[in-house]
Amino acid sequence: MDFSLDEMQTIAVDGFQKFLQAEIKPIAEQYRDKYINTELAKEIQAKLAPFGVVNGFLPEELGGFDMDPVTQGMLMHELAKVSPDIAITTLIYFASGKMVAATPEPLRSKYLDKFLSCELIASVAISEPGTGSDISSASCRAKQDGDHFVINGEKMWISSGDYSDFMYVLVNVTEGDETGLAVFLVDRNEHGYETTNIDKTALNSQSTAQVFFDNCRVPKENMVAAPGKGLKMLLTLLQSSRPIVGLMSMGIAQAAFDEALQYALDRSQFGKPIAAKQIVQEKLAEMITKIEAGKLMAYRALDCIAKGKRSDIDAAMAKWYCTDMACDIVDEATKIHGGNGITREFPVEYMARAAKVFRVTEGTNEIQKLMIGRAITGLNAF
Ligand SMILES: Cc1cc2nc3c(=O)[nH]c(=O)nc-3n(C[C@H](O)[C@H](O)[C@H](O)COP(=O)(O)OP(=O)(O)OC[C@H]3O[C@@H](n4cnc5c(N)ncnc54)[C@H](O)[C@@H]3O)c2cc1C
Repeated sequence: MDFSLDEMQTIAVDGFQKFLQAEIKPIAEQYRDKYINTELAKEIQAKLAPFGVVNGFLPEELGGFDMDPVTQGMLMHELAKVSPDIAITTLIYFASGKMVAATPEPLRSKYLDKFLSCELIASVAISEPGTGSDISSASCRAKQDGDHFVINGEKMWISSGDYSDFMYVLVNVTEGDETGLAVFLVDRNEHGYETTNIDKTALNSQSTAQVFFDNCRVPKENMVAAPGKGLKMLLTLLQSSRPIVGLMSMGIAQAAFDEALQYALDRSQFGKPIAAKQIVQEKLAEMITKIEAGKLMAYRALDCIAKGKRSDIDAAMAKWYCTDMACDIVDEATKIHGGNGITREFPVEYMARAAKVFRVTEGTNEIQKLMIGRAITGLNAF
């Protein structure tokens, strides 16, 4: 396997890096720890879209570029280096774009064009206040009432939730004696749901929201996955986004490494730059090695996805390794900054807060390890 950039990827990544430095970095700096409102969030995603990072993975017949998963991952890595917050909104475009692609016609056509132009934002709502890792126990319910289903319940931690115009929602549906998890496309204006943002320790430039469904009537045609099929649909989705989350974390780690390297070269103690000290070099060497290892792991998982091979375990390995290592790397970067590392003046402080979040999203790292453990032992330890 060769994961060095090919000619097309080099052009894509180089052009994207220049754009990010010129257009996105100033916004990211201005909005660190400040909320980017819906209008600006859509504007930013519309600017990113021509590079393929937002929905280029979609097939050409649906308006995408047929971009391969490895290139998509490389672009997400670059974006997260500059802004993990904006990258999350883009990641949710990726996740909800997969759901849009899987939405049956004519419902899909109703949303596709405005979704592609970033006039609409969608979310994917699985987690609930009482349902986190055990997503099969969703308590949000839908009851059939003639040609409609009536949804009641809450969702929690929903990325882009407050921005969203529509949402793919995992709900428990009862049909006769049978209950099963289904997915509905719920439209904020047509069917009605309420959202409220959650204040976090980091990544507050983007929306993470609690969502409330109160007798929300949705036509039966909006059922995107039938009862019993919803969980599989969303687990497949998570499998494809986990390596990307890994690469995003490695983006934060790379940005922290770059800051630490420059700081170590600039800062002198005991008559020499601290970069000339063996222990500082050891830290830098370990940091960059972990970044390279993490990226390769994530590329391998994405390559499996591209080739249609089994990828769940590779994806789980990449997700936990990259997101845990990112925390270690950013921690070392803050140590290299000495006292400055814990001031808001230096970006490593923010990176340390941001890196932690990715250990939780897309399934916690403990859950990833349980999946790997089950695969290697044949025993379920959940
Ligand atoms: C910023 C952010 C964005 C998010 N975006 C979305 C989104 O867009 N859509 C969405 O649906 N969800 C989203 N989530 C939710 C996320 O997927 C959940 O937070 C995650 O799955 C964990 O659920 P929980 O927080 O309820 O923790 P819990 O499941 O309650 O877990 C608590 C702790 O117990 C551990 N644990 C749980 N079960 C086991 C077990 N069997 N064995 C050992 N340890 C276990 C966990 O690893 C964790 O350490 C987001 C979360 C965050 C923080």
